[in-house]
Amino acid sequence: MKVFRLSQTELDSMVQGWSQNRRVYRPAAGRQQSAQADCAPGWERVAGSSPLTVATGPSKTSVKTFLFPQPETMQTYTLKSSDPDKGLLKEPEKTTGKQIIVGLRPCDARSVKLNNLPFREDPFYQASLARTVMVGFTCNTMCATCFCDQMGGSPMGTEGLDIAISQVDGTMIAEVLTPAGEELIADLSLTPAEDSDINALAERRKDCPQADSAKLDALKSRDLNKLYGAPVWQALGESCINCGACTFNCPTCYCFDVQDEVVRGQGRRIRYWDSCMFPLYSLHTTGHNPRGQKMQRTRNRFMHKLKYFPDRYGPFSCVGCGRCVQDCPVNIDIREVIHDLLAVE
Ligand code: SF4
Ligand code: SF4
Repeated sequence: MKVFRLSQTELDSMVQGWSQNRRVYRPAAGRQQSAQADCAPGWERVAGSSPLTVATGPSKTSVKTFLFPQPETMQTYTLKSSDPDKGLLKEPEKTTGKQIIVGLRPCDARSVKLNNLPFREDPFYQASLARTVMVGFTCNTMCATCFCDQMGGSPMGTEGLDIAISQVDGTMIAEVLTPAGEELIADLSLTPAEDSDINALAERRKDCPQADSAKLDALKSRDLNKLYGAPVWQALGESCINCGACTFNCPTCYCFDVQDEVVRGQGRRIRYWDSCMFPLYSLHTTGHNPRGQKMQRTRNRFMHKLKYFPDRYGPFSCVGCGRCVQDCPVNIDIREVIHDLLAVE
């Protein structure tokens, strides 16, 4: 692994250099839709020479929007009777060229690896992943809603990143972690980090909060199926208004719906983000809804993250970014849910 020292000027000119011939995105200050057509809400294309600084905590919207876009065209077709291909499903035009995401946090980088478990055979996700390079900033400060250290991550984590940039004692240190990261810096003349930088980085990593394995183990060893009828679910269901903010803003929620959209005879089969918090999500065509009550939907969200996903793939489907805690209008807090579940006798 190569490790470099960077000044703010070097970082800015490096990122601007990448943006000359590649799409480079950085977190925007708010969650609004960018004026740039190819840019997801909450992100902006790097252009010009403004210095690259990133606000404390995770970006307003998660990085999943680059790998699992909203919406995403899966197939196209025509219904025009004059067209000999009428009714034939075709592959959409492929987006090519690397995209570089700069300024994401360790929690989001880890979420990309988690989503890769259910999407490992999804050609759309895999194609997006293959053309994405992630240059993340580790965290010196955890927000009040951050709890990556309780979900198996770390504020100084590098999992999923191609380049990790850390601020240690006033020095910016870049760790180049993958061949994709090396490709980005191949033509640059950067200053190798000194031993003192590397030692300081290692010290910082040692000192920062580590995964709270006792809590993780306690949660893993708890048979949550036995808590299916626990009163905690009823109380949560009564508070929740099923707005879906928690799931849409969650980097590890990946449910989608497939719809057809036809405009003047030209059709697109699109997938849109969906949410298990919505009653229509689980409604059968028979009219039966196995999760027709709010309590059932709320329970399903937490059971998916803490039981069904780990049963199937290993890790919990939560990276502790805290977005759902910040965004829930009725203050439902997954940390309290975990605490309450562990407290049930
Ligand atoms: S954000 Fe809160 S109120 Fe909205 S669906 Fe999620 S848990 Fe329910
Ligand atoms: S469940 Fe909440 S804290 Fe966990 S990854 Fe999703 S938004 Fe972040």
